[in-house]
Amino acid sequence: MSSSNPRFAALQAIAAADYQLQKVNFTETHMKDLFGENVFSEAVQRERLPKPVFKALQKTIKQGAPLDPAIADTVASAMKDWAIERGATHFTHQFQPMTGLTAEKHDSFMAPTGDGKAILEFSGKELVRGEPDASSFPSGGIRATFEARGYTAWDPTSPAYILESPNGATLVIPTAFLSWTGEALDKKTPLLRSMEALSNQALRILRLFGNNEARKVFTTVGPEQEYFLIDKNFYYARPDLINAGRTLFGAPPPKGQEMEDQYFGHIPERVIACMADCEAQLFKLAVPVKTRHNEVAPSQYEIAPIFEDSNLATDHQMLVMEVMRKTAPKYGLACLLHEKPFAGINGSGKHNNWSMSTDTGENLLNPGDTPHDNAQFLVFCAAVLRAVAKYPELLRVSVASAHNDHRLGANEAPPAIISVFLGDQLQDVIDQIEKGAAKSTKQGGFMEIGVSVLPKLPRDAGDRNRTSPFAFTGNKFEFRAVGGSQSIAGPNTVLNTIVAESLDYIATNLEKAKGQGKDINKAIQELLPVLLKESKKVIFNGDNYTPEWHQEAEKRGLPNLRNTVDALPIILRKDSIELFGKYKVYSERELQSRFAILCENYVKTVNIEARLTNMMAKTMILPAALRYQGEVAMAVNAVKAAGADNAAQVELLKSLTATIGEFQKAITSLDHALAHHASGDVHAHTKHFRDTVLPAMAEVRALGDKLETVVADDLWPLPTYREMLFIK
Ligand code: ADP
Ligand code: MG
Repeated sequence: MSSSNPRFAALQAIAAADYQLQKVNFTETHMKDLFGENVFSEAVQRERLPKPVFKALQKTIKQGAPLDPAIADTVASAMKDWAIERGATHFTHQFQPMTGLTAEKHDSFMAPTGDGKAILEFSGKELVRGEPDASSFPSGGIRATFEARGYTAWDPTSPAYILESPNGATLVIPTAFLSWTGEALDKKTPLLRSMEALSNQALRILRLFGNNEARKVFTTVGPEQEYFLIDKNFYYARPDLINAGRTLFGAPPPKGQEMEDQYFGHIPERVIACMADCEAQLFKLAVPVKTRHNEVAPSQYEIAPIFEDSNLATDHQMLVMEVMRKTAPKYGLACLLHEKPFAGINGSGKHNNWSMSTDTGENLLNPGDTPHDNAQFLVFCAAVLRAVAKYPELLRVSVASAHNDHRLGANEAPPAIISVFLGDQLQDVIDQIEKGAAKSTKQGGFMEIGVSVLPKLPRDAGDRNRTSPFAFTGNKFEFRAVGGSQSIAGPNTVLNTIVAESLDYIATNLEKAKGQGKDINKAIQELLPVLLKESKKVIFNGDNYTPEWHQEAEKRGLPNLRNTVDALPIILRKDSIELFGKYKVYSERELQSRFAILCENYVKTVNIEARLTNMMAKTMILPAALRYQGEVAMAVNAVKAAGADNAAQVELLKSLTATIGEFQKAITSLDHALAHHASGDVHAHTKHFRDTVLPAMAEVRALGDKLETVVADDLWPLPTYREMLFIK
């Protein structure tokens, strides 16, 4: 084995490596002591803040009351002392720019006193507002560089925490990121606005049901993260994984996922050690990670937390990705969060489990036991159905990206057609309500909402439909189209807003009926069938993968936005602008900026992939193929010189030469596609990349993969699928 071949070097390194796996000792460090250790939590706040300050802060956090600026200095000072005790030297306002990642700039607590000494300082002003030089973040035209000022605003509803590093720690303050004119430059601000919009509308409904205690309704999210872990030596030998996050070449392995021996299988030792380390770090940050298991594809895994309010869940989800990415290398692994790192096997999504809950802890999508609860549940459930039926394209575009195109609308779950799975029992109830007349359920009993005894609705839908993009699963909906590397902020912003609109519609209707002296239960009974009729077209309980469903969906008039380029214009459609404007989630300018950023992002992503494809084809695959061609050519001559029949060698040389010729032609076509200077607007540019560059890349890949199956193994430079996915 020549180790000048990067692939063999990787294999040798893996075989020789001896990893130190034990880094956390759970007999010494107990999980419950770890939990929240590094968070300026409610408990810490209670202990460290004067009572009135604590109360004022909690009122802001729990009820959304405006923050009293007078308390900022006291909170900052307590935070600083607490952080310094835990080794912090710096603080940072962390924000979530439209890159979909997190951003942070650190400042130390140190302030020179002018006499050669220094004190440690952190003021209320520094806590509440920061002013990072933010000109290099995408703004989609909201800011020109000459007016680059953006500022970060403390989000007290997501607690500050300590991020440890080998040398000292940093106090991290979650913030919103805004332009000087108050426009959102980030993903957190619209999410918070959408949560507020939903809360306002949901409270109107609750009041109609006589609930006067609830002061706020939170949307709740439990995001299940799928990811791959492969040996980092392979990762370093693959320029495509390093720079694009996914393999741009790779012939299908002889063994894929067809044995179904991975899902829920035994977790490899090195992987479980890495998972436990990640969990220990996340516990310290009060991220309630709960579940870990093997996923369907080889070397694919999942981590899932217990649900939290959408804002905190989103911040915590960013931390989960960050911690996994940075911990994996300590175990000789690389963590791949990309939606589709490997062709031909499952990609990674993020199941976004979503519900609504009052500040008194009532899950509004829990069917409950009493008729009263059931009526309320049915109203909230109908609101979600109506929202998805009315705005399926917005949900689709909320998960659109060049990466996710390899899942949605390609040959993988879930399809790009947005539909809802209800399950047998809930479907039965809905059918009856829609007909208006029926009064029995599958289990027997009678139903007349709020009047006679309603059937006890299933807490757990039991039959799970894994193919549905939007499924009711007992007491929550699960939006399954979110991509593995995506921030969950965007999809949840859309979900909250479209449901807020439906709740608004329902509340307005019911309030009007009530105002006319109508019995509220009667009004609900009249309204529900209408709502359900409107929503019916989006409900589908069958297999979402079949071609029959695609035909049926077309008949029903459901949109099928197969890729990002088709989906993006939805953002600027009149009804989208009206919707987000009405609930003050995105202004028109903010939508324009997001459209521009997403178009640019698509173009840049595909452009990088195309350049990488080109480079790898020319500098790694073609040279290997030419070396092999030379060997075969020598064999042709050698066999002939030895006086034997060389027909087989000649045949091989011919076919190899033909493939190499096609490969070179395909590379030239890709060169041309890349050289093209797209004119027109930014969306026209995305079309060029979808229609010309992506197919040219696919052609190069197909031929490169063909070469992988014929070129001598000892000449092949790239770690193969059979190695990356199966050597653990
Ligand atoms: P699976 O769908 O894989 O069977 P579970 O049913 O255990 O998994 O739940 C998946 C996720 O749903 C978890 O993160 C869980 O906390 C979350 N979840 C449960 N209830 C709610 C809720 N009311 N709101 C949001 N997420 C929830
Ligand atoms: Mg699930």
